[in-house]
Amino acid sequence: MGSRVASAVLYLKLVVYSLGLLLDNFKRSRAARKVALEDAKRADSSSSSSSSKDPSASTETRNIVIVGASFAGYHAARIIASSIPVDGSWNIVIVEPNQHYQFTWTLPRFCVIQGHEDKTFIPYGPYLPERARHIVRWVHHHASRIGKTSVTIRETNEEIPYDYLVIATGSGLGLQLPSRVGAQDKKKGSELLRQMQQSIKEAGRLVVIGGGAAGVELAADAKELYPDKSVTLVHSRNAVMHRFGPDLQAEALKGLRDLGVEVMLEERAVQSEDEPGVLTLRSGKKLEFDFCVNCGGQSPSSQLLQELAPAAIAESGHIRVRPTLQIDDPSLPNIYACGDVAQTGVRNPNARAAMKQAQYVADNVVLAVQGREPSKLYTPSWADGVIKLTLGLSRSVTHFSKGKTELLMHAKEKDETLMIAQVWTHMGATPYEDVDGVGKETA
Ligand SMILES: Cc1cc2nc3c(=O)[nH]c(=O)nc-3n(C[C@H](O)[C@H](O)[C@H](O)COP(=O)(O)OP(=O)(O)OC[C@H]3O[C@@H](n4cnc5c(N)ncnc54)[C@H](O)[C@@H]3O)c2cc1C
Repeated sequence: MGSRVASAVLYLKLVVYSLGLLLDNFKRSRAARKVALEDAKRADSSSSSSSSKDPSASTETRNIVIVGASFAGYHAARIIASSIPVDGSWNIVIVEPNQHYQFTWTLPRFCVIQGHEDKTFIPYGPYLPERARHIVRWVHHHASRIGKTSVTIRETNEEIPYDYLVIATGSGLGLQLPSRVGAQDKKKGSELLRQMQQSIKEAGRLVVIGGGAAGVELAADAKELYPDKSVTLVHSRNAVMHRFGPDLQAEALKGLRDLGVEVMLEERAVQSEDEPGVLTLRSGKKLEFDFCVNCGGQSPSSQLLQELAPAAIAESGHIRVRPTLQIDDPSLPNIYACGDVAQTGVRNPNARAAMKQAQYVADNVVLAVQGREPSKLYTPSWADGVIKLTLGLSRSVTHFSKGKTELLMHAKEKDETLMIAQVWTHMGATPYEDVDGVGKETA
């Protein structure tokens, strides 16, 4: 009874939290409309003059550089671009090696089902407000070093000066499918997805290593689509989804077992000299397989900062930040970090938390641009830790938790693409039109 009351209270808190988000979105879009109106008025009044640049602004153009344009960096770019002057006094430079926005949530699913792989590559560009697109420069390369006043580009050695810098490099550097695409362009990325689908299809015995969300989802999808296949999930902890509460762990395990996935807990694949197609486990057991998918291994991509601010990098590799999300080095107040790379106290880092942090970073950068003190203080919210876990092709469970209270919401899933069309629309793109233009490399 007590736990039912606690769940009901949590549900109410969730409703209040969601209303708060709606209100915040409403206020933001009203503010953005106001800014657009002011832009239009300014453009009208300066139409007779030869330059549209604000005469009171400095003659020098200043740069806001954003490194990494996924959930955190791209969202920060959008908010900053909605609010800063677009008269030429400021530029936004986005450094991101991927040619398209690579949407992670659909990767485990599109590693299994065929025919949708292109959809996970969403064109960059239209998520940014129209008003600011002329001040945005895209650099589709890697940043290799961060200095006190500039960022170095690995492929070209260009030094891009910055006045404000946002580090949003996440935790997927060097990873392969299904955790990240493992390629920068859509053609190669789609090909890798198709190869994975084919390998899974052809394997009589599939082994999946890693019982986090990617491993659980991929194993469940594969077993549901190919029920005659043997699918084994190997996980080193004593529960799948071990970073979440016991209710979700139990639900995930049951979902896998109901589908017929064999789950081996507290087992780890060890390096061995074994013949190909045999996985030796820590216990000494040997597992034969036709295809093996590794779903582990994310770690924060903070190396860029190592030389400039080693003390701001925690033992875990995350970038230490202050509540303003400025990095934890008072001598570098113009550098911010957000998303998976930042140490923010979020228990289960995810895209929602990354975007929320991006909002705080962007608000603080805009305050600084206006000559004001960055004063927006980020605190993690339990509600940002929500996860929607698919357990096969036709069902999912959404999980919230606060303290020891967990809330599970079950749903039947009808759309095998996990509503990726809506994501395109949300990103300002028309599903599944991909035309050249905005978001492409600019000199
Ligand atoms: C398979 C999978 C499914 C997931 N499903 C969900 C889900 O359903 N819901 C949810 O909320 N979260 C989900 N997540 C978690 C979510 O994807 C991450 O929390 C989120 O991607 C973090 O966003 P980010 O912008 O901080 O970093 P990332 O998404 O890791 O992006 C970092 C970006 O920085 C770029 N970058 C890295 N190094 C450099 C460099 N040197 N120079 C320039 N650019 C660089 C990368 O190319 C990348 O685009 C999932 C994760 C995975 C792996």
